Amino acid sequence: MAAERTLIILKPDAVNRGLCGKVLARFEEKGFKIVGLKMMWLGREILEKHYAHLASKPFFPDLVGFMSSSPVILGVVEGRNAVEAVRNMCGVTDANKAAPGTIRGDFALSTSRNIIHASDSIETAKREISLFFKDEELYNYELNNKQFLYAGDELNR
Ligand code: UDP
Ligand code: MG
Repeated sequence: MAAERTLIILKPDAVNRGLCGKVLARFEEKGFKIVGLKMMWLGREILEKHYAHLASKPFFPDLVGFMSSSPVILGVVEGRNAVEAVRNMCGVTDANKAAPGTIRGDFALSTSRNIIHASDSIETAKREISLFFKDEELYNYELNNKQFLYAGDELNR
């Protein structure tokens, strides 16, 4: 069974505030494996697909404008319980209320300009990863320290 994967997007505020390295470092330090990473300048069409469930919200035009205002960095992070664990590391949507120690809690103040997107379920993660990454842009490889990250029964979960 393949280990769980989730999509992260370092939003234009992370890029323009020079925070991408710090944010990516948190996932590396936690022990997650980065299996895909690239910069893209997202256009309206792909953003309208990605955020389709928010199309009727009043903040939707601002969200699409913000997310297309500069290039972003997209990553696919793999590891045990990656979807839930990465969301927890990000903190709640309103960065003002996000707990200290989370990415949003430490680096942002806003409900909108909140540094990072992370998939919210395993099904969403699959859909979002395939929206932004081709199969050949994702890498299957072993971390050579995995026995120090996982107990035997946790490997590949
Ligand atoms: N957003 C916003 N205003 C709001 C709620 C959300 O601008 O009142 C933006 C914000 O950038 C958020 C994104 O829309 O990250 C997606 O919203 P969602 O509710 O899915 O939050 P998330 O899953 O990112 O925590
Ligand atoms: Mg969401």
